[in-house]
Amino acid sequence: MRGIAAAGAYVPRFRLPGDEIAEAWGTSHASGIERKAVPAADEDALTMAVEAAERALSSDAVDRDELTLATVATTTPPTEEGELLPRLARALDLPRSVATATVGGHTAAGAEALSRALDAEGPALVVAADAPEGEPAEGDHPLGAGAAAFVVADDASAPVTETAWHTEETPGVRFRERGGHDVESLDVTTYQRNAIREAVTSAASSLALDPADVDAAAVHQPDGRFPYRATADLPVSNEAVAAGTVVDRIGDAGAATVPLGLLAALDAESGDGGDADAEAGGRSLAAFFGGGTAVAVAVEGGLDVEGIDDLEGGTEIDYASYLRERGYVVNGEVAGGGAHVSLPNWRHSLDQRYRLVAGVCPDCGGVSFPPEGACQSCHSRVEFEEFEAPRTGTVRALTVIGQGGAPPEFAELQQRDGAYAVAIVELDAEAGRVRLPAQVTDADPADVAVGDEVRATVRRIYEQEGVPRYGVKFEPTA
Ligand SMILES: [Zn+2]
Repeated sequence: MRGIAAAGAYVPRFRLPGDEIAEAWGTSHASGIERKAVPAADEDALTMAVEAAERALSSDAVDRDELTLATVATTTPPTEEGELLPRLARALDLPRSVATATVGGHTAAGAEALSRALDAEGPALVVAADAPEGEPAEGDHPLGAGAAAFVVADDASAPVTETAWHTEETPGVRFRERGGHDVESLDVTTYQRNAIREAVTSAASSLALDPADVDAAAVHQPDGRFPYRATADLPVSNEAVAAGTVVDRIGDAGAATVPLGLLAALDAESGDGGDADAEAGGRSLAAFFGGGTAVAVAVEGGLDVEGIDDLEGGTEIDYASYLRERGYVVNGEVAGGGAHVSLPNWRHSLDQRYRLVAGVCPDCGGVSFPPEGACQSCHSRVEFEEFEAPRTGTVRALTVIGQGGAPPEFAELQQRDGAYAVAIVELDAEAGRVRLPAQVTDADPADVAVGDEVRATVRRIYEQEGVPRYGVKFEPTA
């Protein structure tokens, strides 16, 4: 049966404890949220989507060359929607023939994306990635970030047995305005709560599945208490709701929250997870709500989810660091011009920047990165034979760029993220050693040393001409 054949999760490493919010504002509008995930200054819905999708595609269940559809659900596209999927497809090296669709504007977007993949012919990739932002004094309190990726295929280890929709006009129930990134307030009134509970109850009750038999339920979760209230009229146990609730640890990740809750449930149902009570082959329910529509999805079985451990742990930051990372506080203008890479030149170099494509010299066999201009070994002008370098390697040299030392185009990231390390990274390819300079991310520069193992991750490099530029950075593996 068609369903989820592989899955990956990604949650940014920074965590803001709920009591930091309460201390900063005297009150917290994030009930039941102990900590929330904070995207680093160089992360957004696209970089998180790439990371989660790479993890899902690392399973050998489906070859990425066979994908016929890629669909992304997000309420916070970092670029024009038309530009999001080509970038994702390029960074993931998806077939150029892949059909693409972006779904956004409401928190049930993940259900819509999943439905399209279930209706499609052939293997499909679904990614829900979101980093909603609100006004810091209130609306932003519960908002977190994260990404969930699903590979949908026939003969899946976690078949999707049913999907039911319930649409009702619910005036005044507004969680995210279409097209906007900002949310005025996420406080939920009794009226809104009742309207959502009724819609979720109707959708879940139209399934043949008896909610009493559900082992885990990932229910619409704008805060930590909501999923329990939304299922009050259904015979779903509190244990089942807890198994599918992630908002308490990562905050409300918009369109990605319920998909991440479903992945937590499926991983627990895989039988070899941390949960000793979990039985392989359980029943999971996902209940989405957004824009007046509730969607209930029934899934059987379980699977190991690459990256699901991101839900736990992370690095705690204080409120001041949080404001900087999110770009709420960025001081000063940057003077001067600096290095300028034109858009055509940038576009021409995408295979290097995303996929680490290097070249072998046909004359001397030497390896050059980037595979352009003269051979770096014999200095002949040659037509390189291109190949993809491995995405893990070793730091061979290192420098830390402190305040004021960065080229102007990197200054904004630096103000938000602090000093950063630039390393010469060596990748051991079959054709030979590839060396390239790259930023090191997700690490305190003081903790990075020559000899460290690192892996490539696609991140935001900087913005120029109003266009965010993405490329490979490296993060320590240990
Ligand atoms: Zn050569």
